[in-house]
Amino acid sequence: SAPLLAIRDLTVSFATRRGGHAFQAVSGVDLTVQSGEVHGVVGESGSGKSVTMLAVMQLLSQSATIAGSIMLDGQELTALSDRQMRKIRGARIGYIFQDPMTALNPLLTVGEQIAEAVRIHRGDVGHKHAVARAIDLLRLVAIPNPEKRANQYPHEFSGGMRQRAVIAMAMANEPDLLIADEPTTALDVTIQAQIMELLDQLRREKNIGIVLVTHDLGVVAGVAKSLSIMYAGRVVERGLVDDVFAAPHHPYTKGLLESLPQMDERVERLSAIAGAPPPISARPSGCPFHPRCPYVIERCRSERPVLRPVGPIDVACHRAEIVAADKGTLQDA
Ligand code: SF4
Ligand code: MG
Repeated sequence: SAPLLAIRDLTVSFATRRGGHAFQAVSGVDLTVQSGEVHGVVGESGSGKSVTMLAVMQLLSQSATIAGSIMLDGQELTALSDRQMRKIRGARIGYIFQDPMTALNPLLTVGEQIAEAVRIHRGDVGHKHAVARAIDLLRLVAIPNPEKRANQYPHEFSGGMRQRAVIAMAMANEPDLLIADEPTTALDVTIQAQIMELLDQLRREKNIGIVLVTHDLGVVAGVAKSLSIMYAGRVVERGLVDDVFAAPHHPYTKGLLESLPQMDERVERLSAIAGAPPPISARPSGCPFHPRCPYVIERCRSERPVLRPVGPIDVACHRAEIVAADKGTLQDA
């Protein structure tokens, strides 16, 4: 059967204000997400991960141009009108933003706004029924005392409870796909783990597909089955989480893994990767990672590596075999 979400050769360009040069925020991205599965999309800010997801939702600004294909359950989303797309958003795709306050109206009770989300796509549902459904949704996301909580305002909720309420709203119309963009970045570690557990529970119980967008490889480790690593607007490595963690094939992934705090270490290690990702307006020639890469060779400066299978992993690096076999740390490379 067709995958739940299939993004093929997606390119997103932004025209500059003066209408001159267009910059590619995302270049040739392929992403596949299956039902009942969490797919992690990992990268630093500016890597194109949020832009890719906003392209799926068609929530990019007017200055963006999209090329390529985005299929939801076999339906081409890029061909839909604004009106058709509004029906897909919310009804078939739920979106969870980093900051729950941007998704919540401070002037409405939490119950009222979840009921409103129910009624946007189901005009036939009466107010009373929608409120009852809102309470069920609060129960689904494990908010204690949901009847009472439904009558409270967002500021009466803790940060973690607010994100649960946003997830309840995203689930209001039983979407097939949930896109969670840095859903726990604003929360402390204990609450983060609880929200991840909640997403995993929804995946199991509702068989939905989840895209988990994050800059933190540690966040995807426990919950995602497969992942794509993005750098400078491209997917540079993808595969099953277990395979990638066992043997990262791209130096960038290797660096991300090395900078994760280890269980037996008290102090968090500093990032293993020196330097910063390039700005969208000045992406390097050849391999976009070459200015930061300890494995760089002359070829990397001129020839851009394309994704290719190496064992169970797809990777865009000329030296992937050497990187995968190298058991040393990035600093020794
Ligand atoms: Fe490093 Fe070259 Fe591989 Fe790019 S292609 S990641 S510069 S070794
Ligand atoms: Mg982002």
